[in-house]
Amino acid sequence: MSLSAPEWLIAEVRRAKRGTGTEMVAQTCDLLDRLHLPTVCDSARCPNRGECFSHHTATFLILGEVCTRGCAFCAVTKGKPLPLEADEPRRLARAVAELGLRHVVITSVTRDDLPDGGAAHYALVVEALREHCPGVRIELLVPDFVGSAKALATVLATEPDILAHNLETVPRLYPQVRRGADYHRSLRVLQQAKQLSPKLITKSGVMLGLGEEPKEVEQVLKDLRTMQCDMLTLGQYLSPSLHHVPVARYVNPEEFVSWQRQAFSLGFKSVAAGPLVRSSYKAPVFFREVQ
Ligand code: SF4
Repeated sequence: MSLSAPEWLIAEVRRAKRGTGTEMVAQTCDLLDRLHLPTVCDSARCPNRGECFSHHTATFLILGEVCTRGCAFCAVTKGKPLPLEADEPRRLARAVAELGLRHVVITSVTRDDLPDGGAAHYALVVEALREHCPGVRIELLVPDFVGSAKALATVLATEPDILAHNLETVPRLYPQVRRGADYHRSLRVLQQAKQLSPKLITKSGVMLGLGEEPKEVEQVLKDLRTMQCDMLTLGQYLSPSLHHVPVARYVNPEEFVSWQRQAFSLGFKSVAAGPLVRSSYKAPVFFREVQ
């Protein structure tokens, strides 16, 4: 049986979905449609879509819209992906220029079917942004590239400003929530990123409300700090449909504040924590905390 969301959270989600200006939302949608650019905001049914789109912000989803993994929490379509689109980097750079973004977040589906997991395509996207949007801050939220240090090195050679990789949940829940992923492999992505580029800012995200115990969350935060992860996002898991893993618990805002304090005390430089916080939520704002 699914758990009913508390009234305060339903109101929060309604507010975030609405955003602050329908005209601005429509402008963002029109631009994304015109340039045929998918976003994780749409594909993952993010509750903040209205709020972010009304500020002309979106998180771009590259490497297609079909993921080769089967994470039980995620609304992104799973199956056999289409070939990569060679002009996607140029179209994306054009969108960033037209939106006037100073900080762009780019993520992707997982492409286990590609020999490099899509790393070279990530690099092309960064190169296009550097060429057409000089000065833009680039945040990449990457998949685990099946643990390939070579693929990660290809991405890091383009010198993004922030490299994010989400742990999503505690290791005990990986078999139910993140099938096909490996907790320690994900930690190694963050570790290798720092080893390859010591000055790089790294970031990770964890969802609460999937059935994790406080001690397990604490250990995840400590593991992230062991990998010198700089930035953290903590948000409430919301089940995208009845076919996805159900919510085990709704975490109240006070508990998020408590996690935020604890994370800061462990040494994170930036911590965004709250029911509707997502990996890319207000990314430029939270980046300022590390500067
Ligand atoms: S929080 Fe991130 S994924 Fe969600 S709508 Fe905003 S930019 Fe998109």
